[in-house]
Amino acid sequence: MNLDRTHDPARRSWVSSANGHSEFPLQNLPYGVFQRGSGVHVGVAIGDMILDLTVLENLGRIKVGDVPVFQAGELNAFMARGPADWHRLRVVLSDLLDVASAPPEEEILFEQTAARMNMPFYVRSFTDFYASRAHAANVGAMFRGAENALMPNWLHLPVGYNGRASGVVVSGTAVRRPTGQVLQQGSTTPVYAPTMRLDMEVELGAVVGTATEGGGTLTPTQADEAIFGYVLLNDWSARDLQLWEYQPLGPFLSKAFATTISPWVVTRDALAPFRTPIPPKEHALLPYLASDEPLGFDIAMEASLVPGAGAPLSLCQTNAKHLYYAPGQMLAHLASSGAPICTGDLLGSGTISGPDDSSLGSLLEITENGTQPLRFPDGQERAFLEDGDQISITGRCTGPYSIGFGSCDGAIQAAHLP
Ligand code: MN
Repeated sequence: MNLDRTHDPARRSWVSSANGHSEFPLQNLPYGVFQRGSGVHVGVAIGDMILDLTVLENLGRIKVGDVPVFQAGELNAFMARGPADWHRLRVVLSDLLDVASAPPEEEILFEQTAARMNMPFYVRSFTDFYASRAHAANVGAMFRGAENALMPNWLHLPVGYNGRASGVVVSGTAVRRPTGQVLQQGSTTPVYAPTMRLDMEVELGAVVGTATEGGGTLTPTQADEAIFGYVLLNDWSARDLQLWEYQPLGPFLSKAFATTISPWVVTRDALAPFRTPIPPKEHALLPYLASDEPLGFDIAMEASLVPGAGAPLSLCQTNAKHLYYAPGQMLAHLASSGAPICTGDLLGSGTISGPDDSSLGSLLEITENGTQPLRFPDGQERAFLEDGDQISITGRCTGPYSIGFGSCDGAIQAAHLP
Protein backbone atom coordinates (compact mmCIF):
# COMPACT_ATOMS: atom_id res chain seq x y z
CA MET A 1 0.00 0.00 0.00
CA ASN A 2 1.08 3.55 -0.57
CA LEU A 3 2.45 5.77 2.11
CA ASP A 4 0.81 9.16 2.57
CA ARG A 5 1.00 12.15 4.88
CA THR A 6 -0.19 10.08 7.87
CA HIS A 7 3.14 8.20 7.60
CA ASP A 8 5.32 11.31 7.39
CA PRO A 9 7.97 10.81 10.13
CA ALA A 10 8.36 14.58 10.55
CA ARG A 11 4.80 15.13 11.73
CA ARG A 12 4.27 16.00 15.39
CA SER A 13 1.22 16.25 17.61
CA TRP A 14 -0.05 18.91 20.00
CA VAL A 15 -0.23 16.01 22.48
CA SER A 16 3.39 16.57 23.49
CA SER A 17 3.93 13.07 24.98
CA ALA A 18 3.38 11.64 21.48
CA ASN A 19 6.57 13.27 20.22
CA GLY A 20 9.85 11.58 21.06
CA HIS A 21 10.07 7.98 22.19
CA SER A 22 6.41 7.14 22.73
CA GLU A 23 5.08 3.81 21.45
CA PHE A 24 2.11 5.80 20.23
CA PRO A 25 3.32 8.72 18.09
CA LEU A 26 1.03 10.47 15.59
CA GLN A 27 1.97 7.87 12.95
CA ASN A 28 0.59 4.92 14.98
CA LEU A 29 -3.00 5.71 16.14
CA PRO A 30 -3.98 2.20 17.38
CA TYR A 31 -7.59 1.53 18.44
CA GLY A 32 -8.70 0.31 21.86
CA VAL A 33 -11.69 0.22 24.19
CA PHE A 34 -11.60 1.66 27.69
CA GLN A 35 -13.76 2.29 30.71
CA ARG A 36 -14.65 5.98 31.14
CA GLY A 37 -16.82 6.55 34.20
CA SER A 38 -19.77 4.22 33.79
CA GLY A 39 -19.34 4.11 30.01
CA VAL A 40 -17.27 1.94 27.73
CA HIS A 41 -15.63 4.09 25.07
CA VAL A 42 -13.61 3.53 21.92
CA GLY A 43 -10.35 5.46 21.69
CA VAL A 44 -7.09 5.90 19.87
CA ALA A 45 -3.79 5.96 21.77
CA ILE A 46 -1.72 9.12 21.29
CA GLY A 47 1.38 9.53 23.46
CA ASP A 48 0.31 8.77 27.03
CA MET A 49 -3.28 9.86 26.32
CA ILE A 50 -6.37 8.34 24.70
CA LEU A 51 -8.35 10.32 22.13
CA ASP A 52 -12.01 9.52 22.91
CA LEU A 53 -13.75 8.59 19.64
CA THR A 54 -17.07 7.86 21.35
CA VAL A 55 -17.21 11.47 22.56
CA LEU A 56 -15.95 12.87 19.23
CA GLU A 57 -18.65 10.95 17.36
CA ASN A 58 -21.33 12.18 19.78
CA LEU A 59 -20.16 15.75 19.23
CA GLY A 60 -20.43 15.26 15.47
CA ARG A 61 -16.70 15.92 15.06
CA ILE A 62 -16.12 12.58 13.31
CA LYS A 63 -18.46 10.53 11.17
CA VAL A 64 -17.99 7.09 9.59
CA GLY A 65 -20.87 6.12 7.29
CA ASP A 66 -24.51 6.81 8.11
CA VAL A 67 -24.82 5.19 11.54
CA PRO A 68 -22.65 5.62 14.65
CA VAL A 69 -19.84 3.06 14.95
CA PHE A 70 -18.20 4.00 18.26
CA GLN A 71 -21.14 3.76 20.69
CA ALA A 72 -21.24 -0.01 21.33
CA GLY A 73 -18.08 -0.39 23.46
CA GLU A 74 -16.31 -2.52 20.84
CA LEU A 75 -14.56 -1.98 17.52
CA ASN A 76 -16.60 -4.44 15.44
CA ALA A 77 -18.95 -1.91 13.78
CA PHE A 78 -16.00 0.20 12.65
CA MET A 79 -13.94 -2.84 11.61
CA ALA A 80 -16.82 -4.03 9.41
CA ARG A 81 -16.71 -0.76 7.40
CA GLY A 82 -13.61 -1.78 5.43
CA PRO A 83 -10.27 -0.33 4.31
CA ALA A 84 -11.55 2.85 2.62
CA ASP A 85 -13.31 4.07 5.78
CA TRP A 86 -10.43 2.93 8.02
CA HIS A 87 -8.08 5.01 5.94
CA ARG A 88 -10.38 8.06 5.75
CA LEU A 89 -10.67 8.19 9.53
CA ARG A 90 -6.91 7.76 9.94
CA VAL A 91 -6.37 10.88 7.84
CA VAL A 92 -9.01 12.82 9.82
CA LEU A 93 -7.55 11.81 13.21
CA SER A 94 -3.98 12.41 12.07
CA ASP A 95 -4.89 15.96 10.99
CA LEU A 96 -6.95 16.60 14.13
CA LEU A 97 -4.00 15.63 16.36
CA ASP A 98 -1.35 17.37 14.25
CA VAL A 99 0.53 20.22 15.87
CA ALA A 100 -0.79 22.50 13.11
CA SER A 101 -4.36 22.04 14.42
CA ALA A 102 -5.69 23.85 17.46
CA PRO A 103 -6.34 21.57 20.46
CA PRO A 104 -10.13 21.20 20.74
CA GLU A 105 -11.88 22.70 23.74
CA GLU A 106 -14.00 19.66 24.54
CA GLU A 107 -12.93 16.90 26.94
CA ILE A 108 -11.73 14.46 24.32
CA LEU A 109 -8.51 13.26 25.92
CA PHE A 110 -8.22 10.73 28.72
CA GLU A 111 -5.06 9.63 30.52
CA GLN A 112 -3.94 6.10 29.70
CA THR A 113 -2.70 5.50 33.24
CA ALA A 114 -6.22 6.25 34.54
CA ALA A 115 -7.94 4.03 31.98
CA ARG A 116 -8.95 0.43 32.48
CA MET A 117 -8.66 -1.22 29.10
CA ASN A 118 -11.37 -3.63 27.95
CA MET A 119 -11.36 -6.22 25.18
CA PRO A 120 -11.02 -4.10 22.03
CA PHE A 121 -13.41 -6.17 19.93
CA TYR A 122 -15.89 -9.00 20.21
CA VAL A 123 -14.02 -12.14 19.15
CA ARG A 124 -16.24 -13.96 16.67
CA SER A 125 -13.90 -16.94 16.25
CA PHE A 126 -10.32 -17.76 17.15
CA THR A 127 -8.07 -19.78 14.87
CA ASP A 128 -4.50 -20.53 15.88
CA PHE A 129 -1.92 -21.32 13.25
CA TYR A 130 1.55 -22.90 13.51
CA ALA A 131 3.38 -20.80 10.95
CA SER A 132 6.91 -20.46 12.34
CA ARG A 133 9.14 -23.08 10.80
CA ALA A 134 11.68 -23.01 13.62
CA HIS A 135 8.92 -23.55 16.20
CA ALA A 136 7.28 -26.39 14.24
CA ALA A 137 10.67 -28.04 13.70
CA ASN A 138 11.75 -27.66 17.36
CA VAL A 139 8.49 -29.02 18.78
CA GLY A 140 8.18 -31.72 16.13
CA ALA A 141 11.71 -32.95 16.87
CA MET A 142 10.92 -33.04 20.60
CA PHE A 143 7.80 -35.16 20.22
CA ARG A 144 8.40 -37.18 17.04
CA GLY A 145 12.18 -37.15 16.49
CA ALA A 146 14.26 -34.95 14.18
CA GLU A 147 13.47 -36.96 11.03
CA ASN A 148 9.69 -36.50 11.49
CA ALA A 149 9.86 -32.94 12.82
CA LEU A 150 7.85 -31.31 10.03
CA MET A 151 4.74 -33.21 8.94
CA PRO A 152 4.45 -33.63 5.14
CA ASN A 153 1.67 -31.00 4.88
CA TRP A 154 3.60 -28.24 6.68
CA LEU A 155 5.48 -26.86 3.67
CA HIS A 156 2.28 -26.81 1.57
CA LEU A 157 -0.26 -25.13 3.86
CA PRO A 158 -0.43 -23.08 7.06
CA VAL A 159 -1.42 -25.69 9.66
CA GLY A 160 -3.99 -24.46 12.18
CA TYR A 161 -6.83 -25.45 14.51
CA ASN A 162 -9.96 -23.71 15.69
CA GLY A 163 -9.48 -22.37 19.22
CA ARG A 164 -11.89 -20.99 21.77
CA ALA A 165 -13.05 -17.40 21.16
CA SER A 166 -14.56 -17.08 24.64
CA GLY A 167 -11.16 -17.73 26.22
CA VAL A 168 -9.57 -14.62 24.68
CA VAL A 169 -8.93 -11.98 27.36
CA VAL A 170 -7.35 -8.55 27.37
CA SER A 171 -3.91 -7.84 28.84
CA GLY A 172 -3.98 -7.55 32.63
CA THR A 173 -6.60 -10.26 33.14
CA ALA A 174 -5.40 -12.91 35.62
CA VAL A 175 -4.93 -16.40 34.19
CA ARG A 176 -6.09 -19.27 36.38
CA ARG A 177 -3.84 -22.34 36.24
CA PRO A 178 -5.92 -24.94 34.39
CA THR A 179 -6.72 -28.43 35.57
CA GLY A 180 -7.12 -31.46 33.37
CA GLN A 181 -6.15 -35.01 32.53
CA VAL A 182 -2.45 -35.67 32.80
CA LEU A 183 -0.56 -38.89 32.27
CA GLN A 184 2.09 -38.93 34.96
CA GLN A 185 5.48 -40.45 34.26
CA GLY A 186 5.49 -44.24 34.43
CA SER A 187 1.70 -44.45 34.54
CA THR A 188 -0.71 -45.77 31.92
CA THR A 189 -3.84 -44.17 33.36
CA PRO A 190 -4.37 -40.41 33.72
CA VAL A 191 -5.13 -38.31 36.79
CA TYR A 192 -7.13 -35.06 36.97
CA ALA A 193 -4.82 -32.37 38.36
CA PRO A 194 -3.58 -28.79 37.90
CA THR A 195 -1.09 -28.53 35.05
CA MET A 196 2.56 -28.77 36.09
CA ARG A 197 3.77 -27.53 32.70
CA LEU A 198 2.15 -24.17 32.14
CA ASP A 199 3.73 -22.34 29.20
CA MET A 200 3.41 -19.20 27.11
CA GLU A 201 3.48 -18.80 23.33
CA VAL A 202 4.66 -15.52 21.77
CA GLU A 203 2.38 -14.85 18.80
CA LEU A 204 1.08 -12.12 16.55
CA GLY A 205 -2.73 -11.85 16.34
CA ALA A 206 -4.47 -10.68 13.15
CA VAL A 207 -7.91 -9.09 13.61
CA VAL A 208 -10.29 -9.53 10.67
CA GLY A 209 -12.24 -6.45 9.65
CA THR A 210 -14.23 -7.14 6.51
CA ALA A 211 -16.29 -10.30 6.14
CA THR A 212 -16.53 -12.48 3.02
CA GLU A 213 -19.92 -12.64 1.35
CA GLY A 214 -21.43 -16.12 1.33
CA GLY A 215 -18.27 -18.11 1.79
CA GLY A 216 -16.24 -16.39 -0.94
CA THR A 217 -12.54 -17.13 -1.26
CA LEU A 218 -9.73 -14.56 -0.98
CA THR A 219 -6.33 -14.20 -2.59
CA PRO A 220 -3.49 -13.57 -0.10
CA THR A 221 -3.51 -9.88 -1.10
CA GLN A 222 -7.30 -9.58 -0.68
CA ALA A 223 -7.05 -11.39 2.66
CA ASP A 224 -4.29 -9.03 3.75
CA GLU A 225 -6.57 -6.07 2.96
CA ALA A 226 -9.44 -7.60 4.96
CA ILE A 227 -7.29 -7.57 8.13
CA PHE A 228 -8.03 -4.46 10.20
CA GLY A 229 -4.99 -4.67 12.42
CA TYR A 230 -2.70 -6.62 14.70
CA VAL A 231 -2.25 -7.36 18.41
CA LEU A 232 0.35 -9.21 20.48
CA LEU A 233 -1.00 -12.57 21.56
CA ASN A 234 0.01 -15.03 24.28
CA ASP A 235 -1.46 -18.47 23.61
CA TRP A 236 -1.11 -19.97 27.12
CA SER A 237 -0.55 -23.71 26.89
CA ALA A 238 -0.65 -26.58 29.40
CA ARG A 239 1.95 -28.91 27.92
CA ASP A 240 1.15 -31.98 30.03
CA LEU A 241 -2.57 -31.76 29.14
CA GLN A 242 -1.61 -31.15 25.50
CA LEU A 243 0.68 -34.16 25.25
CA TRP A 244 -2.06 -36.53 26.49
CA GLU A 245 -4.99 -35.08 24.55
CA TYR A 246 -3.60 -33.86 21.23
CA GLN A 247 -3.73 -36.98 19.08
CA PRO A 248 -5.43 -37.34 16.67
CA LEU A 249 -7.42 -34.07 16.54
CA GLY A 250 -4.96 -31.50 17.90
CA PRO A 251 -4.95 -29.33 21.03
CA PHE A 252 -8.25 -28.96 22.89
CA LEU A 253 -8.47 -28.04 26.60
CA SER A 254 -4.72 -27.45 26.93
CA LYS A 255 -5.14 -24.10 25.14
CA ALA A 256 -8.82 -23.30 25.73
CA PHE A 257 -8.61 -21.77 29.22
CA ALA A 258 -7.07 -18.41 28.23
CA THR A 259 -5.45 -16.50 25.37
CA THR A 260 -4.23 -12.99 26.21
CA ILE A 261 -4.12 -10.13 23.68
CA SER A 262 -2.67 -6.62 23.96
CA PRO A 263 -5.35 -3.90 24.30
CA TRP A 264 -4.39 -1.73 21.30
CA VAL A 265 -5.09 -2.89 17.75
CA VAL A 266 -2.26 -1.51 15.60
CA THR A 267 -3.74 -0.93 12.16
CA ARG A 268 -2.56 -2.37 8.88
CA ASP A 269 -2.22 1.25 7.75
CA ALA A 270 0.22 2.12 10.56
CA LEU A 271 2.33 -0.97 9.75
CA ALA A 272 2.73 -0.09 6.06
CA PRO A 273 6.40 1.05 6.33
CA PHE A 274 7.34 -2.18 8.16
CA ARG A 275 6.42 -4.70 5.46
CA THR A 276 8.91 -7.47 4.66
CA PRO A 277 9.04 -10.16 1.99
CA ILE A 278 7.87 -13.58 3.13
CA PRO A 279 10.63 -16.21 3.37
CA PRO A 280 11.30 -18.14 0.12
CA LYS A 281 9.27 -21.33 -0.16
CA GLU A 282 10.89 -24.75 -0.23
CA HIS A 283 8.02 -26.10 -2.37
CA ALA A 284 6.05 -23.84 -4.70
CA LEU A 285 2.70 -23.14 -3.06
CA LEU A 286 -0.56 -23.83 -4.84
CA PRO A 287 -1.73 -20.72 -6.72
CA TYR A 288 -4.44 -19.81 -4.17
CA LEU A 289 -1.75 -19.42 -1.48
CA ALA A 290 1.23 -18.17 -3.47
CA SER A 291 2.22 -14.51 -3.37
CA ASP A 292 5.18 -12.38 -4.42
CA GLU A 293 3.92 -9.40 -2.42
CA PRO A 294 5.75 -8.30 0.74
CA LEU A 295 2.95 -9.53 3.00
CA GLY A 296 5.17 -10.08 6.05
CA PHE A 297 5.97 -7.66 8.89
CA ASP A 298 9.17 -6.63 10.64
CA ILE A 299 7.90 -6.49 14.22
CA ALA A 300 10.47 -7.06 16.98
CA MET A 301 8.86 -8.90 19.88
CA GLU A 302 10.19 -9.58 23.36
CA ALA A 303 8.81 -11.72 26.17
CA SER A 304 9.83 -11.47 29.80
CA LEU A 305 8.96 -13.35 32.94
CA VAL A 306 8.15 -11.19 35.96
CA PRO A 307 8.31 -13.49 39.00
CA GLY A 308 6.06 -12.96 42.02
CA ALA A 309 9.21 -11.83 43.86
CA GLY A 310 12.48 -10.73 42.29
CA ALA A 311 13.60 -9.01 39.11
CA PRO A 312 12.16 -9.76 35.63
CA LEU A 313 14.04 -12.01 33.23
CA SER A 314 14.00 -11.55 29.46
CA LEU A 315 12.97 -14.84 27.85
CA CYS A 316 13.29 -14.15 24.14
CA GLN A 317 13.70 -11.58 21.41
CA THR A 318 11.98 -12.70 18.25
CA ASN A 319 10.42 -11.12 15.16
CA ALA A 320 7.25 -11.60 13.11
CA LYS A 321 9.42 -11.65 9.97
CA HIS A 322 10.38 -15.24 10.86
CA LEU A 323 6.87 -16.49 9.96
CA TYR A 324 6.96 -18.82 6.93
CA TYR A 325 3.38 -17.87 6.05
CA ALA A 326 2.17 -14.25 6.23
CA PRO A 327 -1.12 -13.42 8.00
CA GLY A 328 -2.70 -12.77 4.57
CA GLN A 329 -1.80 -16.33 3.54
CA MET A 330 -3.25 -17.75 6.76
CA LEU A 331 -6.54 -15.94 6.13
CA ALA A 332 -6.53 -16.89 2.42
CA HIS A 333 -6.10 -20.53 3.46
CA LEU A 334 -8.96 -20.28 5.96
CA ALA A 335 -11.22 -18.77 3.28
CA SER A 336 -10.12 -21.27 0.61
CA SER A 337 -12.54 -23.96 1.79
CA GLY A 338 -15.54 -21.64 1.73
CA ALA A 339 -15.45 -21.24 5.51
CA PRO A 340 -17.11 -17.90 6.38
CA ILE A 341 -14.70 -15.10 7.28
CA CYS A 342 -16.33 -12.72 9.75
CA THR A 343 -15.69 -9.34 11.32
CA GLY A 344 -14.00 -10.03 14.65
CA ASP A 345 -12.31 -13.28 13.65
CA LEU A 346 -8.94 -13.53 15.39
CA LEU A 347 -6.02 -15.41 13.83
CA GLY A 348 -3.01 -16.36 15.94
CA SER A 349 0.24 -16.80 14.00
CA GLY A 350 1.48 -19.68 16.11
CA THR A 351 4.52 -19.37 18.35
CA ILE A 352 7.11 -17.20 16.65
CA SER A 353 10.55 -18.71 17.09
CA GLY A 354 13.58 -17.47 15.21
CA PRO A 355 16.71 -19.31 14.15
CA ASP A 356 18.79 -18.84 17.32
CA ASP A 357 18.58 -19.72 21.01
CA SER A 358 17.64 -16.20 22.08
CA SER A 359 14.62 -16.14 19.75
CA LEU A 360 12.59 -19.11 21.01
CA GLY A 361 8.95 -18.14 21.66
CA SER A 362 7.92 -20.78 24.24
CA LEU A 363 9.32 -22.21 27.47
CA LEU A 364 8.91 -25.66 25.92
CA GLU A 365 11.70 -24.71 23.52
CA ILE A 366 13.71 -22.44 25.85
CA THR A 367 13.97 -25.06 28.62
CA GLU A 368 14.03 -28.03 26.23
CA ASN A 369 10.80 -29.45 27.60
CA GLY A 370 11.73 -28.53 31.16
CA THR A 371 15.08 -30.32 31.20
CA GLN A 372 17.18 -27.10 31.14
CA PRO A 373 15.52 -24.75 33.64
CA LEU A 374 15.93 -21.00 33.39
CA ARG A 375 18.11 -19.44 36.06
CA PHE A 376 17.33 -16.00 37.50
CA PRO A 377 20.21 -13.84 38.82
CA ASP A 378 18.84 -14.34 42.37
CA GLY A 379 19.04 -18.14 42.03
CA GLN A 380 15.34 -18.87 41.29
CA GLU A 381 14.76 -21.49 38.59
CA ARG A 382 11.86 -22.13 36.23
CA ALA A 383 11.15 -25.07 33.99
CA PHE A 384 7.56 -23.87 33.47
CA LEU A 385 5.43 -21.10 35.00
CA GLU A 386 4.66 -20.92 38.71
CA ASP A 387 1.71 -19.27 40.44
CA GLY A 388 2.38 -15.53 40.75
CA ASP A 389 4.56 -15.41 37.62
CA GLN A 390 3.63 -12.81 35.01
CA ILE A 391 4.49 -12.96 31.31
CA SER A 392 4.82 -9.64 29.48
CA ILE A 393 5.13 -9.46 25.69
CA THR A 394 6.03 -6.22 23.93
CA GLY A 395 6.35 -5.41 20.24
CA ARG A 396 8.07 -2.62 18.34
CA CYS A 397 8.61 -1.58 14.73
CA THR A 398 11.58 0.60 13.87
CA GLY A 399 12.06 2.30 10.51
CA PRO A 400 11.23 5.79 9.24
CA TYR A 401 9.42 6.14 12.56
CA SER A 402 9.07 3.84 15.54
CA ILE A 403 5.78 2.51 16.88
CA GLY A 404 4.87 0.08 19.66
CA PHE A 405 2.04 -2.31 20.48
CA GLY A 406 1.82 -1.63 24.21
CA SER A 407 2.10 -4.64 26.48
CA CYS A 408 0.42 -8.06 26.56
CA ASP A 409 0.49 -9.13 30.22
CA GLY A 410 -0.97 -11.97 32.21
CA ALA A 411 -0.20 -13.28 35.69
CA ILE A 412 -0.82 -16.84 36.85
CA GLN A 413 -3.28 -17.51 39.68
CA ALA A 414 -3.35 -20.74 41.66
CA ALA A 415 -5.61 -23.48 40.31
CA HIS A 416 -9.05 -24.20 41.68
CA LEU A 417 -8.19 -27.49 43.32
CA PRO A 418 -10.30 -30.43 42.17
MN1 MN B 1 -0.38 -21.26 19.66
